[in-house]
Amino acid sequence: MQTYTEQTRDLPVVRDVDVVVVGGGPAGLALVEQFGYLGGTATASLMACINGFRNQVEPDFTQTVRGIAEEIVLELKAMDGLGKSPYAQKSYPTTPGQMEYSYAIDTEKFKYVALKLCVDAGVDLLFHTWFADAVVADGVLRGIIVENKSGRQALMAKVVVDASGDGDVAARAGAPFWQTVKDEAPRLNDALMYRIAFGAQRPAAPMACDFGNNVVVWGPGAAPIDGTDAEQLSRAEVDTRLRVYEDFAKKQSQHPELVDARVVETPPLLGIRQTRFIEGEYKLTAEDAIEGHRFEDVVAISSCAIIHYYGYRRYLEHEGYDIPYRSLVPKRIDGLLVTGRCISSEQQPYESHRAMIPMMAIGQASGVAAALSALQGVKPRDLDVPALQKALIGQGAELRK
Ligand SMILES: Cc1cc2nc3c(=O)[nH]c(=O)nc-3n(C[C@H](O)[C@H](O)[C@H](O)COP(=O)(O)OP(=O)(O)OC[C@H]3O[C@@H](n4cnc5c(N)ncnc54)[C@H](O)[C@@H]3O)c2cc1C
Repeated sequence: MQTYTEQTRDLPVVRDVDVVVVGGGPAGLALVEQFGYLGGTATASLMACINGFRNQVEPDFTQTVRGIAEEIVLELKAMDGLGKSPYAQKSYPTTPGQMEYSYAIDTEKFKYVALKLCVDAGVDLLFHTWFADAVVADGVLRGIIVENKSGRQALMAKVVVDASGDGDVAARAGAPFWQTVKDEAPRLNDALMYRIAFGAQRPAAPMACDFGNNVVVWGPGAAPIDGTDAEQLSRAEVDTRLRVYEDFAKKQSQHPELVDARVVETPPLLGIRQTRFIEGEYKLTAEDAIEGHRFEDVVAISSCAIIHYYGYRRYLEHEGYDIPYRSLVPKRIDGLLVTGRCISSEQQPYESHRAMIPMMAIGQASGVAAALSALQGVKPRDLDVPALQKALIGQGAELRK
């Protein structure tokens, strides 16, 4: 391949802060984000169904995620921002401690609520900004380099949280990671969601994420790709976008009531389920999820079914398994925590805790851990975990402690 040698240059340091969070998805909801709004897959890929407050089937007594995720859904309820989830589930009143397994969300209201909570909490947001590189010295991540309209800039931080979903920061910093192998690719099931509006009639049964006359439906599926490869990502966008109207015509032929419905929105980003997994101090295993293992360093809980791995929806036969803090701490690099879908996990548990409600619980845990590390001047891997758990419980998180 032909190469070009970039000139070295001095960059303005535009922030020198305690914590930088890269990625504003369900797990991030914070500082550096490529889009001009928050929500990640929930908003930028129109994945309007957020799952995982409790087990979908019995035993389901314990609401395993509370904290910020519950706060967001209650805010949405107050704004009439919840619709009908397509998933079979027991009904709950949607009050604190009484949340349903899954909710369809009004993606515009979700953008608003997430932004409002961040602004009210004093989060310093830098939108339309792309994480470009990691500043590493002696095995410690000291900050990041970003690109945006202002050019190339440096942001220095005591701790960086990688909430990019793809583990972009950790990978650039030199943390070890692995990726889906080719024969697991059919399970990826990446898809371009789209929104349709009904005309005079509509199907009687709820369709996908349903808000009455405007629903988000699952659209064209992508052939398996490596979502960290720009060429493959671009080809998948082209392929799925060119198949939207063919997909819609098929839906119309299956539901004659859609005769005067129309496609009103495709999202900016194809929904990509998984890319890199960062090698952490502990890798969650299939057995952990299936047996419902508890860990001393629990910082979040997942009670969601394992969706694709076994070829059927494998519901958990217990109330949930613990996510240990060590799965958020990458090997080899200090000054860094990973969160969201790229935490250290085998495929099977990932297919449970990647649901957006446990993602938010994991995100809350990483944010609090990063803040405590910065405040106490300790490496995230040396953080006092009981103090972290106490802080999380103080914020209303559920740890079954
Ligand atoms: C097709 C599909 C169907 C799904 N179905 C469901 C479902 O029914 N229910 C459910 O609960 N979950 C579902 N999920 C899973 C869920 O949406 C994800 O697991 C979850 O959104 C992951 O959260 P995250 O914050 O880790 O990452 P993401 O949601 O991927 O967010 C990452 C954020 O980081 C930003 N970012 C990434 N790289 C950079 C960069 N270099 N610079 C700046 N910003 C960057 C992105 O713009 C994004 O905002 C589905 C996912 C897909 C793809």
